[in-house]
Order: sequence, then C-alpha cells, then structure tokens
Amino acid sequence: MNIIDLDNRQFTSPGQGYWPDVTAEQWNDWQWQMRNSIKSLDQLKGKIDLTGEEHAGVLLANTKLAMGITPYFFNLIDPFDPDCPIRRQVIPRIEEMTYAPTDMADPCGEDHDMPVPGLVHRYPDRVLFLVTDRCASYCRYCTRSRVVSGVGEQELELDFDRAIDYLKKHTEIRDVLLSGGDALLLSDGRLKNLLGRLRTIEHIEFLRIGSRVPIFLPQRITPELCAMLKEFHPLWMSVHVNHPRELTTEVREALGRLADAGIPLGNQSVLLRGVNDSPEVMKVLVQKLLRCRVRPYYLYQCDLIQGSSHLRTSVAKGLEIMDNLRGHTTGYAIPQYVVDGPGGGGKIPLNPNYVVAQTPESIVLRNYKGDIYEYPEVAPVDAPESTPSYRRLEFLDPIEEREEITSRSWRAGRRD
Ligand code: SF4
Repeated sequence: MNIIDLDNRQFTSPGQGYWPDVTAEQWNDWQWQMRNSIKSLDQLKGKIDLTGEEHAGVLLANTKLAMGITPYFFNLIDPFDPDCPIRRQVIPRIEEMTYAPTDMADPCGEDHDMPVPGLVHRYPDRVLFLVTDRCASYCRYCTRSRVVSGVGEQELELDFDRAIDYLKKHTEIRDVLLSGGDALLLSDGRLKNLLGRLRTIEHIEFLRIGSRVPIFLPQRITPELCAMLKEFHPLWMSVHVNHPRELTTEVREALGRLADAGIPLGNQSVLLRGVNDSPEVMKVLVQKLLRCRVRPYYLYQCDLIQGSSHLRTSVAKGLEIMDNLRGHTTGYAIPQYVVDGPGGGGKIPLNPNYVVAQTPESIVLRNYKGDIYEYPEVAPVDAPESTPSYRRLEFLDPIEEREEITSRSWRAGRRD
C-alpha cells in the first residue's frame, strides 16, 4: 500500500509498496530496480486504474518514447488520482501523439551544434556531453525524447574517443556537462574512466553531471559512487525535481551523501501543467530542496517538444510563480526562470517586471509587496559635478510603515 505525502512538506518513504515480498537487499539494489522497471501495460495491471487516455498512451509509448518507471518511483503515484502530479510525469498519455504546429523534434537545436557525436558545443567555453541514451525512468516531456530510451526517431550516436579528442583540441572549453540520458546509469568503472580522461585535459576546469537518478533511483547513490565522484572535484551536480512529493526520505539521504562528498547540488525543474504550475506547490518544492541541501537553480519553461502541449503551461503563469517566490521566501530558494530559445537560442532569463519607470535621473521600482521606491541614478563619471537633487516621493518612506525594531534595522543598514 502506498503512503502518499498529501501535504507534501514532510519527508516520507513510499516503502516497498507493490513489491512487499522482495528482500530489503534486492529493493535497495539499484540494478534490481532497473531490472524490474515498469515497462508494459501488463506490469501496470492490478496496480493502477488507467484512464482511457493513459491506456492508449501506454500502448503507443514504444513508438516514440518508451515507458520506464522504477518500482521505487512508481510507489509515489497515487493510484486513485488520475491527476496525480507524479503520474502525469511518467505515465504516457494519448495526447503525446498530437503535435502542435509549433512543436519540434529537437526544440533546443542541439543537433545543429554537434561537432562530433554526442558533444553539443553551443556556448564558447562549455559543452554538453551526452554519454548514454538511457534514463532510470522516462519523463513524458523530455526535451531529448528523439534520442533517449532507444525507441525514438533518432539513435544517439556515441563516440567517446572522438569527443575526448575534440575536447583536447579546443582549449577554450573549460566546463563539461555530462548528461544524456543519465550519466549516473553508467557503471562506477565506466564513469570513473570517463571522468579520469576528462580530468587529464588541463584546460577543463570544471565538471558537471546533470542527473535525475537521485530522484528516480536514490539506491544508485551508493557510498562507493560518492567516494569515486569525490576524486574528480571540482564536480557539481544538477538534479531534476518537479514536485515536492518527489523529495522522500530516500532522496533526502541520497542527496545528503552527494553533498557530504563535497558536490554542490542545484535543481532544475520544468514548469508542467498539473504538476507544479502553482505558486503554493513551487514554494513548498523550493523550501524542501533547501532542506535537502540543494539550491534551486533553474525553472524551465517546458520546451516545445513534440507531443508535450498537454503538459505546457503559460509563460504568464511562470512569471506569476516567480513573483510569488521572490521576497516571499529565502533568496537561496529562488531559481532563475528561463526559456530555451526555440530552435537553439540557448537559455533566456525571464523575470517579473520590477521596474515601474526609468529616467536618466532615477529608476522607479516596485518591491515584492507592490510598494513603490525611487532610486537615484548615478551620474556618468564624466558628467559635470552638480549637487544631486533627490525627489522624495510621499509614498516612498518604508521606515514610517515598519514596526520600531524593523525601523532600527533599516536605519542601521541591515538587509536580508
Ligand atoms: S531524466 Fe532527463 S533525459 Fe531522461 S527522460 Fe527525464 S528529462 Fe529526459
């Protein structure tokens, strides 16, 4: 039986759920989890009542993006709620077969920027290195669904030797991001070999791994893996959590092991309709991430990947969420909201508008509560010296409005 963390703030364990008879040793073995992934309609029978849309979606999934869900992650699904935010991310739906006119097979234009198979070199000093086409589970909105899971329209070509040669020759590259697919599905030995080869290239200063494994398959984050990763610092990791229910006790412990190995952790979420497109859900998520020692890094507007329009939500909603985070919770908890420019424009930051008006003399701003403030513009250094004349707006004084203790802090120049 599933334990669903309905208020989402708590860390709970889904336990062994539908697999009560396997041993703890098997359950905690990441390879057992992978071997027993849910991949077919038959495996879903008796566990979840599929809607008509899901039933049809599951039957067609293997023509586009395979279904694959680790038993651990499957236990997080509420089998009685067709709108369950976990279910929407991993159970295929028939809507995936409908392509909107703006949908694309390669929405980030990665294939155009691939000088050698698997290496995307778009930005001057960094590359994305795709090292496998397999993931622990498959996200129904995956930007790389054309190549991941092995059933899409393209095969991911891999040639580590050519990629390493390219990296050696391009001395401007200082940062390599390993992704896929999911690099943490490589065996410890294979990953160690690859990281070791990268570390022999002198101009590569910084390594990153983008992975959803700590969330889909926390059992993979073994002490041995952490000890191995620790040999390759500076090594950072971006994980991918979309909903606070994904942050279980198992995930918190796995993230703790990575953090204890000295790996700085960031989170990348995708804004998804019916999953996290609400300020309340997003606030719980970012606060819970901090409790797991993970800094919220990006909130992505969902890419225009083919068949994902049922999961996309408006940019206006994304901006509303950001407006409800900034100032309303810890600054470290605020991710940067970005749109990946369709077709290969790279990440473009989006922020709510805090500038109400701007003149050469001043900028008028609103704060998170909607109060208005005027900040005098600094005169250009070569401008003739003059005594600045500040205009004090009646509604500007924040001190009068505050309680005495807050006013003292303000006058002493202290800020959050
Ligand atoms: S884990 Fe990442 S690469 Fe894999 S399916 Fe999900 S979004 Fe795509």
